[in-house]
Amino acid sequence: MDIKLVIVGGVAGGATAAARARRLNERAEIVLFERGEHISFANCGLPYYIGGIIEKRKNLLVTTREAFMKRYNVDVRINCEVVAIHRDSKEVEVRDLASGETYSEPYDKLIISPGAEPVKPPLEGIDLEGVFRLRSIPDSDRIKAMIDTVMPRSAVVVGGGYIGLEMVENLIHRGVQTTVVEMADQIMAPLDPEMAAIAQAHLKERGVRLELRCRVESFVRDPDGLKVATSRGSEIHCDMVILSIGVRPENRLAKEAGLKLGDRGGIVTDSGMRTSNPDIFAVGDAVELTEYVTGRPGMFALAGPANKQARIAADNAMGRNSAYKGALGTSIVRLFDLTVAGTGANEKHMKECEIPYMVSYTHSGSHASYYPGAKQMAIKLIFSPDEGKLFGGQIVGEDGVDKRIDVLATAIHGGMTVFDLEELELAYAPPYSSAKDPINMAGFVAANVLKGDLEVVHWNSLSEHNGNNTVLLDLRTKREIDKLGTIPGAVHVPVDDLRATLGTLDPAKDYIAFCAVGMRGYLAHRVLVQNGFKSKNLSGGFSTFAPAKEEITG
Ligand code: FAD
Repeated sequence: MDIKLVIVGGVAGGATAAARARRLNERAEIVLFERGEHISFANCGLPYYIGGIIEKRKNLLVTTREAFMKRYNVDVRINCEVVAIHRDSKEVEVRDLASGETYSEPYDKLIISPGAEPVKPPLEGIDLEGVFRLRSIPDSDRIKAMIDTVMPRSAVVVGGGYIGLEMVENLIHRGVQTTVVEMADQIMAPLDPEMAAIAQAHLKERGVRLELRCRVESFVRDPDGLKVATSRGSEIHCDMVILSIGVRPENRLAKEAGLKLGDRGGIVTDSGMRTSNPDIFAVGDAVELTEYVTGRPGMFALAGPANKQARIAADNAMGRNSAYKGALGTSIVRLFDLTVAGTGANEKHMKECEIPYMVSYTHSGSHASYYPGAKQMAIKLIFSPDEGKLFGGQIVGEDGVDKRIDVLATAIHGGMTVFDLEELELAYAPPYSSAKDPINMAGFVAANVLKGDLEVVHWNSLSEHNGNNTVLLDLRTKREIDKLGTIPGAVHVPVDDLRATLGTLDPAKDYIAFCAVGMRGYLAHRVLVQNGFKSKNLSGGFSTFAPAKEEITG
């Protein structure tokens, strides 16, 4: 098929679309415009380049213009900005940024993947030297040059999303004392607050100052560096600032061409990534996509969806019929020793969407407890209250989080239920897992709740249940309580003494049993209800309750 495909944007979505289109059609003419000087660079690697973990700048370049042109026979024009789309004449207007000249380039099919731009609020001092944003290789060059030459002692990272947090880890790695200022009441918006609380506690342990519910209001340069004024009335002195307060879709081209945009400015497409003009496709951070779990419009600035959409757009531009089914928003970030990950819908979003759901918490070892090095991971599942269909999952832990979040993402994509999680046969040998993998355990607990074998109370509703008629039973050992504390008012009954203590319990009372993670609490619940007592278990035990209480309710 002789066809001319023009692509705008040469990184995640654009380069993928070009390569896929070429593999499908050897005869097509393919022209790719990129306004920057690099194509196909690893924006996800930029924080680690700044941190010195990725040592060589050239490693950020997944391919070069020349190599890409040679392998894929694509006409790659860098430093060329597409400034307008003329949909009636099927041409794009291009400005060559080197020469300043403007020219038209005709297309049969157009794929736009212009990405997203960092949000830049109109704050006093936002353009001062030392206030940085991170999106491109030149941005990372500037930040790295400052760290290498000026050797700043302190930094403020504005925004506790994943890019901000990756910068925190890398700044600390470079010996820069770091404060995170976040407007919301938690970091890592894809997670629910009690799961983010575990990560927040870890950041503090690693010496990061965290200012939540705090807005940055201005930046002022003084002889000592930069002064960051906040909505709390405080002033934070630092040597540099990284702004990481989110992104908005680069939609100017689409808007001016009259393509349909969604409420949040994302380019609207059908499942074939076609915009409101059938010859123009859009992919990546600039598009509004469908949330896989809720079926609602959503925006996720993530490389995985951009790459997959690009493949689909290229298929369809080349005459195939491929469909994008929606995004889960699966994301993962490393924070020092912790890995923090989420997939699907979180509880906050289920509430907003008014979709009925249930949640459960588990804490399991990353591998067999008798094999050295096992670490606990906290898992939260969100599922439907009727058939147990999985809506979302969040995991925070030190080891093995990545593979478990991917199992959950696969399960959600496959429409599986918590009962399926019970049955999954996952790889096991002592260094890797347990015969009952953490995912199986999460499935068992959620399924127990749905089957009525376990009644649970959650960390945030304990006070509602904890009335005059309620007795909190702490089932842990004295050693654990001495080390970690307990919940005020709890009565200590070690789980192994529970049966012998039953005669002293009052059947008229409501018992809420808890232990470290919920395992002994479940056993106690079964003992109590089968002996005629009313009992509930604190889901996730003290390990979920304590950081949430500390970080969220203070
Ligand atoms: P981009 O990859 O940003 O490419 C858009 C390109 O289009 C840009 O190079 C831009 O110059 C060009 N362009 C825009 N307008 C025009 C125009 N008019 N003419 C010509 N060219 C134009 N995602 C993850 O999933 N995991 C991660 O760990 C992760 N880490 C990240 C870390 C950083 C620091 C950053 C910035 C992003 C990270 N992302 C990560 C997000 C991921 O990089 C993006 O989701 C992905 O690159 C989006 O692909 P895209 O093609 O839509 O946009």
